[in-house]
Amino acid sequence: MSYKGNKKAGGGKDNRHFAEKDPAEAVTTKGRRLCDLEKEEEERKCQEQRMRREIRSLFETQPSAVAYKRFILVSFSTHCVTSNGEVVPAEGSIISMSLKNGKNFLLNRCLFIDTMIISGIRTEWHSFLNPGEIPFGYRAECLRIARKTHNIPLDTEELYTKSDADICRDIMQIIADICYVPDQPQPVFCMDEERSTVRSVLELLFKRAGQKYPNPPVYSLEEMMLAMDHAVKKLKFIKDQKKGLKVEPPVSSDHVLNLEVMKNVLLSGDFDASATVCPFHDEADNFEHCTLGKVRRRAYIIMDRLCDGEVRNQTKN
Ligand SMILES: [Zn+2]
Repeated sequence: MSYKGNKKAGGGKDNRHFAEKDPAEAVTTKGRRLCDLEKEEEERKCQEQRMRREIRSLFETQPSAVAYKRFILVSFSTHCVTSNGEVVPAEGSIISMSLKNGKNFLLNRCLFIDTMIISGIRTEWHSFLNPGEIPFGYRAECLRIARKTHNIPLDTEELYTKSDADICRDIMQIIADICYVPDQPQPVFCMDEERSTVRSVLELLFKRAGQKYPNPPVYSLEEMMLAMDHAVKKLKFIKDQKKGLKVEPPVSSDHVLNLEVMKNVLLSGDFDASATVCPFHDEADNFEHCTLGKVRRRAYIIMDRLCDGEVRNQTKN
């Protein structure tokens, strides 16, 4: 085709003009290319599917593993999250737990909190987190959020008794205690809506500490609860079958709806919140926004839901 022909077909200068207007090259108000955002979204979906596969595989072939599998619950609070996703950390709590000894938990749930802690919770870790440099223009927002939620002061150096390096070493130690695979840390679990913040705080802490090893993946606690719930139902089914009862195997129904149910379960519970919080939040009479209170209550709720019947029998010595 001749150059002249190209021109007739609307080529040359006009074509270049259209090329510059390629929608994939369009940028957002924050200067990010749409094609990059689409790629990130694709990657995010793949990661979600991988997470679901991994969680499901934990109990698929061996449902009785639900009785002794150890896993980590985590919660971080922040002074603020900027419009660019930067976080200003405030407090963090981590526990490792399993359902083993859940029987004791049930027997003791009306007694002292310490008795409950030694039942299913294996390790507890809590620390206030140095907020670091406050992003420009966000100081007032940080103060407002602290006042409305966790009440942790922004500039009280005495609160930060642990360095970033100490904190990262502690976190990695708790994770390695569960299972150590070089360069493949075990996942940590939190409520779905908190995953982005937890991931950002972990990234920040590891970066500030100059840590080289990869951050642990942050997985959905609702997904974990669903998988555990299903494993418990499967155990009951196997047991009923052995008894010669005519029973139907458990089936997975609407996944999205079930996740919502698990979310509500994790946000409910009739535990005395005042007995779960750290000394600072106890003193402040703030029982709702303490990260230690949150992870403890979630652990108790999980045990309360799953530590009877089949799981209790699995943990009998
Ligand atoms: Zn607290």
